[in-house]
Amino acid sequence: MNEDNPPITPNLFRRSPRKYQIDEGEAKKIVRDMFRKYSSIEAWQKRRQEVEEGILKGASLFPLPKKEPLNSTIRNKKKCNEYTLENVALETFPGFYCTGNLYRPMSNGNSVPAVLSPHGHFAAEGGRFSHMVQARCARLAQMGAIAFAYDMVGRGESLQVPHTDDYVFSYQLWKSIRALDFLFCLDGVDPSRIGVTGCSGGGTQSFMLTAVDSRVKLSVPVTMVSAHFRGGCICETGLPIHEISQTNNVEIAALAAPRPQLLVSVSTDFTRNTPLVEFPFLKRVYDLFNVPEQVENVHLQNEKHDYGHNKRRALYKFVAKHFQLPLIEDELSIPNTSPERVSLFEKEQLCVFSRKEIKNRCKPMAETLRKHLLYRN
Ligand SMILES: [Zn+2]
Repeated sequence: MNEDNPPITPNLFRRSPRKYQIDEGEAKKIVRDMFRKYSSIEAWQKRRQEVEEGILKGASLFPLPKKEPLNSTIRNKKKCNEYTLENVALETFPGFYCTGNLYRPMSNGNSVPAVLSPHGHFAAEGGRFSHMVQARCARLAQMGAIAFAYDMVGRGESLQVPHTDDYVFSYQLWKSIRALDFLFCLDGVDPSRIGVTGCSGGGTQSFMLTAVDSRVKLSVPVTMVSAHFRGGCICETGLPIHEISQTNNVEIAALAAPRPQLLVSVSTDFTRNTPLVEFPFLKRVYDLFNVPEQVENVHLQNEKHDYGHNKRRALYKFVAKHFQLPLIEDELSIPNTSPERVSLFEKEQLCVFSRKEIKNRCKPMAETLRKHLLYRN
C-alpha cells in the first residue's frame, strides 16, 4: 500500500444525469470536432496513449498492480451438444474471486480462438446465468471457440464487493484483465485470436478492456457506444475515466483500431444515431490505418436494448469471418427465427461455489482492495 498515493477520488456528482448524458446535438458537434483533430496516424497514436492512460489513471490502476497467481478452480464438467461447460473461479487478487463459466468446443487438438463474455446489468434476466449469455457462449463453442462468461462485481456469485462501491469500475476492469490472463494461458487457446463481447454495461466492459489491453484482438460492443450517453451506472461513470483525458465512449471505442470491431446498434435506445454519428468517426480512425473494412456496424431497427438473437447472429458472422471459424447452418438462413439449439442450465448448476465455500472463502473485500489494489503514481 502506498500511503502517499491514495486511490483517486470518485466523481462527486456521479449519479447526476449531467455527468453521463448530454444533448444529442451537442454530442454530434463534439464528434464533428473529433473528425478534424486527427488528420494523421501520428496525431491519433498520441491521442490514443493519452486516452488509454486516462482510463487507467481514472481507475487508480496506473501502472497496473502486480499480478498474483490465479489459482483457478475448474469443476462440474457437463457434456453438451458438441461442447463442454465447466464452472470456474479465478483468484484475481488474493482472496478476491472472478466467478464464471467456461464453454469449450470438443477438442481436435488444434488451438482455437477464445471470447470473453461480460454480461451487462440485466439483473432480471439473470446476468451471467441469463439465456442470452448462455446461448451465445454455447453457440461460440459449437462454432469452435472457447467462451468465458464471468460475473460483474456485486452480481451472480461475485458478492465480495457491492455493485454500489465507489470503485466498482476499477474492480470490474481488473477482473476483465485477469479473465484475459486466464484465457491467454489456457491450454488450447490461440492467444492471437482472443475477443470480447458484451451488451449494455457488458458493452462498456468490452470497449474499456479493448482500449487498455492489446491482447484483445476483436471487440463487439453491443448497444452501448454512444456519443451522448456514457452509461448510467457508477460501474461506467463513477470514476473520472473520461475526464482525465477529456474523452467520450466513441473515442474510447476507436482505441480498438486497427483490430476488428463490430458495433451493434438499435433504433430504440441511445445507439440510435450510430450509423450517422458514431460509426463514421470509427471508420475515419480505421481509415488512418488503411483498414476501413475492419470496423463494421449492424444497425437493427425496432430491436430492444439487449443481446437478442439477431444481435448474436451478427456476432457469430463477425467472429467466423475474423477468427476463421465455420458458421453453423442455422446462422446462414435469412430470415432466421429459430434460436440456437443449445443446452440451457439453471443457476444452481452453473455456480462454482457451494454455500459453505462462499461463507469460508468469499469474505468481504471492498476495504482490502481499496487499500492494496488501487493506487496512484
Ligand atoms: Zn453497473
